[in-house]
Amino acid sequence: MNVPMYDHAGRYRLLRSELDAAILRVLESGKPDWGPEVPAFEEEFAKFVGTKYAVATNSGMAALKVALLALDIGPGHEVITAPNSDIATTSAIHHVGAKAVWVDIEPDTLNLDPDLIEDAITPRTKAILPAHMYGHPADMVRILEIARKHKLFMIEDACLALGAAIEGKPVGQWGDIACVSFAPTKHLGSFGSGGICVTNNPDLAERMLLYVGYGQPRSRVYGSSALKQGQHLVVEGLNERLDEIQAAMLRVQLPEVPGWIQKRVENASFYTSAFKGSPVQTTVIRPNCTHTFRNYVVRVNQRDEVQQQLTEAGIATALVYVPPLHLQPAYTGLGFDPGSFPITEEACDRLIGLPVGPHLSTEQLEYVVDTLLRITGGQR
Ligand SMILES: *Cc1c(COP(=O)(O)O)cnc(C)c1O
Repeated sequence: MNVPMYDHAGRYRLLRSELDAAILRVLESGKPDWGPEVPAFEEEFAKFVGTKYAVATNSGMAALKVALLALDIGPGHEVITAPNSDIATTSAIHHVGAKAVWVDIEPDTLNLDPDLIEDAITPRTKAILPAHMYGHPADMVRILEIARKHKLFMIEDACLALGAAIEGKPVGQWGDIACVSFAPTKHLGSFGSGGICVTNNPDLAERMLLYVGYGQPRSRVYGSSALKQGQHLVVEGLNERLDEIQAAMLRVQLPEVPGWIQKRVENASFYTSAFKGSPVQTTVIRPNCTHTFRNYVVRVNQRDEVQQQLTEAGIATALVYVPPLHLQPAYTGLGFDPGSFPITEEACDRLIGLPVGPHLSTEQLEYVVDTLLRITGGQR
């Protein structure tokens, strides 16, 4: 049996006629750029997350950069984050000229540890940037308390956690800005690349619109600006906009997302009960938290050997963000030795991601469980 991590062609087939129609609609509109699809998708997505505004970008990494720029974070500033996320979380901070300050994670949720944040705050700290790892929300209640106490911004990296919530309040609604990725492998996947920033703050929304589109107000492009012609470049912006075809295709898929998330949560819960009491260590779900499982990560001994055997059995796996950032070649120049972030390193040494997407059949899930238990010597 083959168990793939994703099935993008299957996702296309499921919605083929609507996706084809969406692409044709854009092609025939004569508006490949600055058309109606991006603003319409932004409005629909903001409603989906429950925020007032959304600003679409061409990737999750672009969303993070635009969020930082909109908050005026740049050279001389520090942003606190964790070393076990996608490189984009850290590199976005560096690309705007600020410094990423890593702190270690909680051993159970693998999210930024609130207990370690205050020690990392300096007069240069401007923001805290937790990523909701694998779909489990970071401890927003405590992190927000710390951010308020020290007058810091909070940016949520919600790229892995669409639909997750703490105490019933969805991720995306906690930070000053939250960023989401539409990489094909995320909860809502483009057929290319995409991302979005959400916020409830109208000034930040306006600034993000400036930064994604060359520094000009979008109202100018859509013909309703009061600015004098020729005086429309307000800040030195980027060109990091979502494109019309991706926006049109994301609009088709957005209504499917709750069902897809539901399926992920069911698949995860099947795994968690099957692995109970076995050598396969599953991740916790904190009380009052909704985990939406972009990844189902477990921890096992002899991880590389286990992965090899799963591959031989036809089961795809993912080493999500392993080794951690401070031990990647890109950051050896920063001088962090092994042992710098012990909880992160212990988790990354043993962690492996299993297929958990909505494309999986019951037979495939059973096969993953049986195979992994056989490999690790567990009992069903
Ligand atoms: C995917 C991801 C990103 C980057 O998103 P892209 O769309 O690939 O640029 C950033 N942070 C996290 C936590 C992610 O999972």
